[in-house]
Amino acid sequence: MRVSEEKKPKLTMSQDTHHLPVHEVLLFLETDASQGLPQNEAASRLERFGPNTLPRIRRHGSFMRFILQFHHPLIYILTASSGITALLGEWVDAGVIFGVVLVNAIVGFIQESRAENALDALIAMVKTEATVLRGGEKCKIPSSDLVPGDVVLLEAGDKVPADLRLTSVRELQIDESALTGESLVVSKSEHRLPTETLMADRQNMAYSSTLVTSGQGKGVVVSTGSATEIGRIHQLVGETPDIETPLTKKIAHFSKILTVVILGLAGVTFAIGIWRGQSAVEMFMAAVALAVGAIPEGLPAAVTITLAIGVSRMAKRHAIIRKLPAVETLGSTTVICSDKTGTLTENQMTVQRVWAGGQLFRVSGTGYNPMGEFTKDGQLVNWDHEPALSACLLAGVLCNDAQLVKQKENWDIVGDPTEGAMLVSACKGGLDVKQIQHEVTRENVLPFESENQFMATLDRRGADQQAVMSVKGAVEKILNLCQYELSADGREVPLEASRALQQAETLAGQGLRVLAMARSTEGKHVEGHSLKQAASAGELVFLGLQAMMDPPRPEAIAAVGNCQKAGIAVKMITGDHAMTGRAIAEQIGLIPETPVGTESNLVMTGSAIATTPHNALPRAVDRSVVFARVSPEQKLRLVEALQTEGHIVAMTGDGVNDAPALKQADIGIAMGRVGTEVAKESSDMVLTDDNFASIEAAVEEGRGVFDNLTKFIVWTLPTNMGEGLVIMVAIGAGFALPILPVQILWINMTTAVALGLMLAFEPKETGIMDRPPRDPGQPLLTGALLWRIVLVGALLLAGSFGLFLWEQERGSTVVEARTVAVNVFVVVEMFYLFNCRSLERSLLQLGLFSNPWVTWGVIVMIALQLLFTYAPFMHSLFHSAPIDGGTWLPILGIGVASYFIVGLDKWVRHRFTTKNNEAVVAGS
Ligand code: ATP
Repeated sequence: MRVSEEKKPKLTMSQDTHHLPVHEVLLFLETDASQGLPQNEAASRLERFGPNTLPRIRRHGSFMRFILQFHHPLIYILTASSGITALLGEWVDAGVIFGVVLVNAIVGFIQESRAENALDALIAMVKTEATVLRGGEKCKIPSSDLVPGDVVLLEAGDKVPADLRLTSVRELQIDESALTGESLVVSKSEHRLPTETLMADRQNMAYSSTLVTSGQGKGVVVSTGSATEIGRIHQLVGETPDIETPLTKKIAHFSKILTVVILGLAGVTFAIGIWRGQSAVEMFMAAVALAVGAIPEGLPAAVTITLAIGVSRMAKRHAIIRKLPAVETLGSTTVICSDKTGTLTENQMTVQRVWAGGQLFRVSGTGYNPMGEFTKDGQLVNWDHEPALSACLLAGVLCNDAQLVKQKENWDIVGDPTEGAMLVSACKGGLDVKQIQHEVTRENVLPFESENQFMATLDRRGADQQAVMSVKGAVEKILNLCQYELSADGREVPLEASRALQQAETLAGQGLRVLAMARSTEGKHVEGHSLKQAASAGELVFLGLQAMMDPPRPEAIAAVGNCQKAGIAVKMITGDHAMTGRAIAEQIGLIPETPVGTESNLVMTGSAIATTPHNALPRAVDRSVVFARVSPEQKLRLVEALQTEGHIVAMTGDGVNDAPALKQADIGIAMGRVGTEVAKESSDMVLTDDNFASIEAAVEEGRGVFDNLTKFIVWTLPTNMGEGLVIMVAIGAGFALPILPVQILWINMTTAVALGLMLAFEPKETGIMDRPPRDPGQPLLTGALLWRIVLVGALLLAGSFGLFLWEQERGSTVVEARTVAVNVFVVVEMFYLFNCRSLERSLLQLGLFSNPWVTWGVIVMIALQLLFTYAPFMHSLFHSAPIDGGTWLPILGIGVASYFIVGLDKWVRHRFTTKNNEAVVAGS
């Protein structure tokens, strides 16, 4: 559905609604605060107003971006030489050089646009969703489908999806820095305001792109898309991905320094030639050849492209990179701190045990299917005799925001799985959950937040009934709020907390997530305004425990094993009980199994984190594996502690309070499904499937990207070196140039695209996860690789110069000898490409055709070289000449010889390092 800009009515009323009473706004927008819009009306409004998206505005338009391609030292040199060559009357050469400049700019422009588009598309894959009321039902829809009149529900962690006039709020606080630049959070209200109130003070409005930091709210959409404040104020919205990384910056810097050095060398060469009595024109061409050949101009572009390819490979494996430097950092990650629920486990909760009135009940059934039974000591439960059990289940239904739904034959839940599990257990216990949810009026709610560790609601069943407060949450927390407990026969008796605590530990030791239920005492009038205060009075009645299973993800078990092999420590961070965390960690293979009842020194609790002295914390954290009952604020301390120990930390998070830790981590990873918008905004990477295995996959890809970058650099630099050396030796020794500037341009342009780039598609090497993480401080090129670059550079020099002289010796013209020298360069590069497909392994181990891109690249390159050598139009453009068939033999011979020489170098080094490692192992 497309609505043209002209036909689309612009909603410009956002500045006008703050002074109107809510009912007038609703009337104007023809909507209903409790029902929302009917589905069909929403669809027709979407047709009319268009999607709630903002056009992406780039920093530069296409024309400017094309022009910027010419802003490059090499291009300056080429353009100048093209001009001077033209002045010298060498029209063909001038035309060819200028043609290359143009082609280079076009290729650069296309590549840059494609890389940016690909990154844009990836960012768009992380969809923002909004919770709305449509036809009286609460549902989640893509934010782009919002229309004026939609009723939106906001909660902590949401990004406000459009401009809203708030209709009701509960301690709603919003961070409006995206809009105003002010980082203070703003408290919101639903009250009308004077007309003249400035935008920043309109507390009854929530503006698109701002972030809800706490509380809840409801509002009606008044403007969408570019009619919103953010759309009007900022012309530039959405994130323009930055395609620079520390590595690309380093390489760009290196290229710049190299350019200056090479220009200096070119000047010296020019001077030496003149001093030796050569003609100025010839020496000028030689200096240009040297500059063009020796400057690795394609390097920065190749690095960006390799990174971009890595990013799209990661996206296929459910990891969306939001910030490009993360691709590099992933390869160096030494610790992954992962949340338990949903990342290492399935987040498919099923209540298996309930402990109420001092008795333990088993619950049968799996998943969210509400079919199952309660048994006690192997006997079906007689519900007339279990009032405590019923009360415990009822509290789980009242203090609950989830909904149980049947889709076709499958049962599912909308909302928090922990709460969904309690609806299912209540159904199994014979409660009519739908009926209860229908009858009850919710008078107040204290939503669950990790730092409180509990949730409370105040509900009234029928106007003449007393409102009851129901509370559920972490066992220790709830027991602290209680003074009484419900006995098996339903009487309120003094609480025996130690018994409940012990029971909770036993259940947690079985890997179950345990929640305690409580309610206000019979007949007690609860003040409606602050449930937190009411609960803190400590007079609640403890009703029992519900213990649920959340099975580990099988793929996470395998991924944890892979990480451990790859020298990456995996740590589990959980808000759950230490015993639950420990049992799950054992099942996943994070820690060895130990008998129940024994202490594990690999488990650290939130309170231990809080009491450990600052300077002792890093070591303690480094040693531990499971962190339990951790508050989101402590996550930040954990990251900092691990970083102090020299680790490169990847940390997962989903809540609003995880944002600081995600920002501090070297790689902040947000959950794409359950994660809040705030967490996503603070992250470097988003997992579309919330699965730990995807983090491991991303690390693997990150290592692969780094390998491919190194391969490209090791492949490309010898050519630059060889070309530079050939020119300098020729001038120094007083020979004619074995390769001309236009020929160097030809070699560099064609081989970089047809051969070098194919390395970016090289599949990951086997065993990539068997080696330790890369030290980020380690230089890109090790001594061994530098040596290889020098070796191949020397081989190119010897091969091309040797054959160039030999050909002339045999009676060939200098033009033919140059054609041979160019072919030597290309053929050696072609063979060397196969050496570079792996930095250590041989081709036999890799498989000759395991990267089809390389095969195709070589075929294209052969065709281009035949064209270069035999096509008459190429002769006039590139000063080439046909060579006889027999001449190909020595050319190929040099190619094959250099392949084997490099192969031998690899083999010797491999043997040497393996021997050394063995000696180290044997000696240790
Ligand atoms: P993990 O950190 O492993 O992902 P988590 O994020 O689910 O676990 P929290 O959500 O912080 O951890 O939960 C901490 C504790 O709070 C749980 O052990 C449970 O006792 C309690 N809890 C969790 N969800 C709710 C809820 N919806 N209502 C009340 N209490 C809850």
